[in-house]
Amino acid sequence: MKKEAIQSRIQKLRTLIDVHRVKYYTNDAPEISDEAYDTLVRELEILEQAHPEFADSTSPTQKVGATVLEKFIKVKHEILQWSYDNVFGYDELLAWEEKIVRFIEKEDISIRNIPREYVAELKIDGMKIILTYEHGKLVLGATRGDGVVGEDITHAVSVMPDIPKDLGRDISLVVIGEAWMKKSDLQKLNIRRQKEDKPLFANTRNATAGSLRQLDASITRDRNIQTFMYSIEKLTGDDLEIPDSQKETLVLLKKFGFSVNDIFVHTPHVKEIQEFYNGWVSKRDKEEYSIDGIVIKIDSRKISQALGYTAKAPRFGVAYKFPAEEVTTIVEDIAIQVGRTGALTPVAHLRPVVVAGSTVSRATLHNQDEIDRLGVRIGDTVIIRKAGDVIPEVVRALTELREGGEKPFHMPTHCPVCGNTVVQGQTSTDDKTVAFFCTNKKCFAQEVERMIHFVSKKGMNIVGMGDKIVEKFITEGLISSYADIYELKAGDIVGLEKFGEKSADNLIESIAQSREVSLAKFLYALGIHHVGEETAELIAKYISETYNNPSYDEFVHLWKKITKESLENIEGIGPTVADSFVVYIADADHQEQLSRLESQIAFVYESSTFPQTVSGKTFVLTGTLATISRDEAKNRIKQMGGSVASSVSKKTSYVVVGDEPGSKYDDAVKLNISILDEKAFLDLLS
Ligand code: ZN
Repeated sequence: MKKEAIQSRIQKLRTLIDVHRVKYYTNDAPEISDEAYDTLVRELEILEQAHPEFADSTSPTQKVGATVLEKFIKVKHEILQWSYDNVFGYDELLAWEEKIVRFIEKEDISIRNIPREYVAELKIDGMKIILTYEHGKLVLGATRGDGVVGEDITHAVSVMPDIPKDLGRDISLVVIGEAWMKKSDLQKLNIRRQKEDKPLFANTRNATAGSLRQLDASITRDRNIQTFMYSIEKLTGDDLEIPDSQKETLVLLKKFGFSVNDIFVHTPHVKEIQEFYNGWVSKRDKEEYSIDGIVIKIDSRKISQALGYTAKAPRFGVAYKFPAEEVTTIVEDIAIQVGRTGALTPVAHLRPVVVAGSTVSRATLHNQDEIDRLGVRIGDTVIIRKAGDVIPEVVRALTELREGGEKPFHMPTHCPVCGNTVVQGQTSTDDKTVAFFCTNKKCFAQEVERMIHFVSKKGMNIVGMGDKIVEKFITEGLISSYADIYELKAGDIVGLEKFGEKSADNLIESIAQSREVSLAKFLYALGIHHVGEETAELIAKYISETYNNPSYDEFVHLWKKITKESLENIEGIGPTVADSFVVYIADADHQEQLSRLESQIAFVYESSTFPQTVSGKTFVLTGTLATISRDEAKNRIKQMGGSVASSVSKKTSYVVVGDEPGSKYDDAVKLNISILDEKAFLDLLS
């Protein structure tokens, strides 16, 4: 990048970060996620370090926390309130340790002789509070504010049940901890706020801050805020003093009557800290509190005091955040992908970036409406999100960072693969989104995608027949219809795509094994528009019940009798799906393809040995369940006679709500559908 471009980028980043800083810290109403915010700050830090000539003392990288709201009494902190520097990854953690070792080596013998040990605690995503006690009585509760001046929230902390008001001993004490809200309490609070037409809280951190920064303490009381205290900043009287280790500090805090999180590790080995971290990356959603990482501190107070502070942060501790699920990067191009239904999907080609622990270079943009909604252009800085197994998506374009050379994107008028004219159509009758389609059924891109879907794990599950192989077989003219797959011989493929005799035999064997399949998987494998896994299950259940577990050959003769009306009567199936299914059946090409599979495919039906306690009930699942995976939950429901639908309708019997539920949860509230939490759900199935 040119100097001017770098300077411009630095300035734009500073302005943007300041805007979001106020929303985040001062107003407790962030517009972008903490993680995306952190990535912007990180980019700015890196640029500033590489280009000290653009340094500026007013840069947001030089500030701590928030400005104090006018409505509160200001509190000047007795002890300056710092926040820890961050490390991003094991290498940086090791580098931090190395710095400490070097520092200690320069100290006198009394420090050098203390064993170097660490305490790593969970980093609770709530709000920092500072409590002051005089003669054992709670006299002040304060927010961190900008580190120098905080807000007086004594009235609010006074109504919180797990904060002792009287320690029962004559001591002066200043303690620090984190106030937090249970995820389940946030859910309840947001339901209530929705009914009252009030804005919802984005996360437990904001809800906690919003609940404590209230002039009316009765609001705080109703919100059931919890605390974990973790640090003693001052302690005099009663022959007591601040313990010499962080571990003992936690013990003493507990003895005083404070809530303390018992989960931490105490170790001389950084490697064990990394293991603790790794363990919590996968367990992070299981606790009632939100965790966004861990905090590592030198256990010895003497060493900590000797290490002291840099201009910005303590040297004796660092924060180690979990891999971000939202980060910022740059859209380098927008390309078109043609799917198996012919739908043209714009895909953002990104500057590679690590998100949720893996490098990502593509993100779907869904359709032109989505591009318009996001306002994203080629060259834009964007926030992308990747959570769990979901494919990465663009959530926001940071238009404030534009330099002027960004290019708008328009859908092409012709299919980029076959050149056929592109037509506009709705993806479904209830979803008004306009999509663009290549209507050429012989379009190579569609053929490949359809075939890849057919052989995929959730479909016919032909092991070893990957995307590249499918594409090669189609180009070579080996397969064009599903039946062609089952007519393949080892000799046809030896020599193709690195196939030797053994690997060719293996593939033919796994093709043979895929012949036995459930009706539901087969219906899913066909890739009928709108017929996903769950819908395929529902239709399969209907067919097997109505036609008494038909064989494949029986199925090929009876399926033309299935009407739109009969499908619409199935709970969980709407007119769009029913329509799409009968349109597929009516197509002569499809009929011919399926007829050719006669005597190739054998349907297998499972007989149920479970009590059919939820027979006829339809479930919708949303959010993460703590003790059972999504797939297990679905299986249990199906085993016991119930069915699972992907969206909430009036016909839904129950909506099962886990952690961080999606819009289905809101739909359930709107339609007044019975809501089950995890415990109630498991009780029902037990
Ligand atoms: Zn095409």
